[in-house]
Amino acid sequence: MGELANCAQCGTVFVKNIRDVCSACYRKEEEAFTVVYQFLRKRENREATLSEIVNATVLGKEMIIKFIKTKRLRTSEFPKLTYPCERCGVDIVRGRFCADCTDELKKDLERYDSTKKDATERKPERVYYAFDRND
Ligand SMILES: [Zn+2]
Ligand SMILES: [Zn+2]
Repeated sequence: MGELANCAQCGTVFVKNIRDVCSACYRKEEEAFTVVYQFLRKRENREATLSEIVNATVLGKEMIIKFIKTKRLRTSEFPKLTYPCERCGVDIVRGRFCADCTDELKKDLERYDSTKKDATERKPERVYYAFDRND
């Protein structure tokens, strides 16, 4: 008996495997991928943007973003394939956040880390060295 999990797409309980979606959703995803890929392969659609693809294929935006994030749709091949940063909405091609937000989030994390450290451990006493300068 495999471990049970909820499908990330529809919530159905299924036997967990390498995928995060159930087999019905997996099939749907594969079909969707074929549709998107067939669309993008046409020369005139090479530079389609995310919303143009959504309009043309009538597929969910999230589904297409998933294909970009998992690198099934390569942004090197299709230069206009971008999706919004989860924090500020700017167009990005990889990850969840743009470079600016990644920087800020990292700073936030460091700040959080250092305040946590301050609370748990005492700063070492500063040591001053006196140098004899009468030579
Ligand atoms: Zn499902
Ligand atoms: Zn951002």
